[in-house]
Amino acid sequence: MATDGIRVVLFGPPGSGKGTQAGVLSERLGVPVVSTGEMLREAVAAGSSLGRKVAEIMAAGSLVDDDTMSEVVGERLERPDVQGGFLLDGYPRTLRQADSLREMLQRQGVALDAAVLLDVPEEVLVARLTGRGRGDDGDEVVRERLDVYRDKTEPLVDYYRREDLLQVIDGDRPVQRVADDIVASLEAVR
Ligand code: AMP
Repeated sequence: MATDGIRVVLFGPPGSGKGTQAGVLSERLGVPVVSTGEMLREAVAAGSSLGRKVAEIMAAGSLVDDDTMSEVVGERLERPDVQGGFLLDGYPRTLRQADSLREMLQRQGVALDAAVLLDVPEEVLVARLTGRGRGDDGDEVVRERLDVYRDKTEPLVDYYRREDLLQVIDGDRPVQRVADDIVASLEAVR
């Protein structure tokens, strides 16, 4: 499959396997992953001014504000390594972020090829999230992250459906099966 220029958003609730799929798909499609969660965690670890600003918000399972995220992602998408395509993991997470992304790409004269939703039942998410022991995955925080997803991020399903970019993938299966389905769905749109 010709992957040159493929630009994909991966989204779904916390625990749906976005990060895992991003890694697998990056290998298979030959495009880099841009993970906002990773970028922010690195900023926190480095103790940068961005890191100091977002540490508490992340620990609570809330969302970093849209303007900050625009800045972070806008700068990242200008770098040379993503000019031939990318997998966006964890961005956008709000309708405003989706609009900003569209504008950023428009300014570069490109557009998304697809927005892939990883669909996983709630009880599976909770089991996965409470089992994995990340610092921001205590019970309270898990609930907060799921609520935030429902309130702020789920509206992206309709947004991307209207844009004719939505691909819904059953994410409650073995990693390679899910990846196969995503690759097939991307072949279909290109
Ligand atoms: P993730 O690894 O994608 O689950 O992201 C971890 C945390 O980073 C989230 O719970 C948010 O606090 C923050 N974060 C990552 N991406 C975004 C985004 N696009 N908008 C707002 N906050 C974000």
